[in-house]
Amino acid sequence: LVARMREFGTTIFSEMTALAVRTGSINLGQGFPDTDGPAAMLESAVAAIRAGVNQYPPGPGLPELRQAVAEHHKQHYGLLYEPDGEILVTVGATEALAASILALCEAGDEVILFEPYYDSYAAAVALAGAVRRPVALRPVEGRFTFDPGELRAAVGPRTRAILVNSPHNPTGTVFTRDELSLIAALCQEHDLLAITDEVYEHLTFDGVEHVPMATLPGMRERTVMISSAGKTFSVTGWKTGWVCAPAPLVSAVQSVKQFVTFTSGGPWQIAVAHALREELDWVAGLRDSLAVKRDRLMTGLSAAGFGVYRPAGTYFVQTDIRPLGFTDGAELARRLPELAGVVAVPTQVFYDRTALGRHFLRFAFCKKDEIIDEAVARLARLR
Ligand code: PMP
Ligand code: GLN
Repeated sequence: LVARMREFGTTIFSEMTALAVRTGSINLGQGFPDTDGPAAMLESAVAAIRAGVNQYPPGPGLPELRQAVAEHHKQHYGLLYEPDGEILVTVGATEALAASILALCEAGDEVILFEPYYDSYAAAVALAGAVRRPVALRPVEGRFTFDPGELRAAVGPRTRAILVNSPHNPTGTVFTRDELSLIAALCQEHDLLAITDEVYEHLTFDGVEHVPMATLPGMRERTVMISSAGKTFSVTGWKTGWVCAPAPLVSAVQSVKQFVTFTSGGPWQIAVAHALREELDWVAGLRDSLAVKRDRLMTGLSAAGFGVYRPAGTYFVQTDIRPLGFTDGAELARRLPELAGVVAVPTQVFYDRTALGRHFLRFAFCKKDEIIDEAVARLARLR
């Protein structure tokens, strides 16, 4: 393995899911739902296969999906993207992020990341030979946010981009317009790109609204906006995502993407196009049911003795293990199957400065009610 990849090892999601399978534990680690997405969307994929949509789609993705993404962004955000040239279909948000970073960051460029951050970001930055500059999200009155001074201080002459994930995995923070404006001002002042990971765009609670960075004044032209179908339609295995940006940026990303995967599954693209057009009511139902599941898990985790942070979006609850007398989340995550028959994710793996996240564990609530209930009943044994 090349030196620049050696620090990464196996992703925490594979490791924790393997641990759950090996020990027969309830898996509240890796974030994937245990119920299927809308039936008509599933049928649409089957129908596409039967109808012969089985050869290479064009490099930018099937026109049906690019058109549906354009309509979705116009309808939900008032954002206009041209399906031919400003939208690129990718293998999930993961490929979109990696291809964007590889296409737009030179070796030695710096990329600002809010830590804790989704694990693929650091690896993609490393593959590009770029350098990550972490800015911490810390709890302030129960909500994770950044210090504007710390963000400002992280910008330097080599900074190329700020990677913004909102709604944020693993803290559940949905950045406010004010927070986004601070980031946007820095991007404009220092001529930086914003690369945005919006995969949880539809999963926000309590009336909190997701604001895409590209809707802020002056930001559409410098934002690479990324999302995918996995979380919105409960098809994490379909790995269908998209990049929206001005044509020169999309063209750069496609230059990389064409040699990584060239293109990807046509049937999924057809089905996701259907879902973006027809299944947003279904998504509203998912959001409502997730809000209730969040409360169910939070109540149970509090009763079990965890410190609990209330997420405004995503399907994860961040917890503090110190009230239970534990100090190291990585160690507790390894022992949790034997102690309680449950698997969670140690949030410290999402930090460069691991000490900042040592005492956190992340639990997923995209699970059936009876699974959540059984998990919290088991966790009550930790007291
Ligand atoms: N970003 C974040 C914040 C995620 O939680 C995930 C996991 N869905 C991804 C990106 C990857 O998305 P995809 O499965 O579409 O590649
Ligand atoms: N996004 C999911 C999570 O954060 C899992 C992604 C993965 O397994 N790579 O848990």
